[in-house]
Amino acid sequence: MADQFSTEERSAVMRRVRSFDTGPEVRVRQMVHHFGFRFRLHCKDLPGRPDIVLAGRRQIVFVHGCYWHQHSCEGSKRPATNRRYWNRKLDKNVQRDKENLRLLRRQGWRVLTVWECELRKPERLERRLLRFLNLGAA
Ligand SMILES: [Zn+2]
Repeated sequence: MADQFSTEERSAVMRRVRSFDTGPEVRVRQMVHHFGFRFRLHCKDLPGRPDIVLAGRRQIVFVHGCYWHQHSCEGSKRPATNRRYWNRKLDKNVQRDKENLRLLRRQGWRVLTVWECELRKPERLERRLLRFLNLGAA
């Protein structure tokens, strides 16, 4: 396929791609990768389709959005309109997360849930990840 973009256009596209690519999940993935771990992504055969799976170590990292997964932080505030709809939907998410955790633990997985808001303090999050991955606490 011919390249239909000028240099300027292409770098604009790349910027968009990159900013799209720096969501919470990707950033956590980069951290784990940076520590030297290899992992699989979005394992469809596991409950909850975990974001990061370190199969050999039986470890899983979920990266959860504070709103959709209802973290106990201010990012979880429910909307004032359509309360019934949102309550039902969000309660269902929380219930599903709990059930997935239970199933995974029963299968012998150790699970760490990272919340989107934790990325505001990346150093603290890195320490938490490292502790989980048994590289020793800082
Ligand atoms: Zn949060």
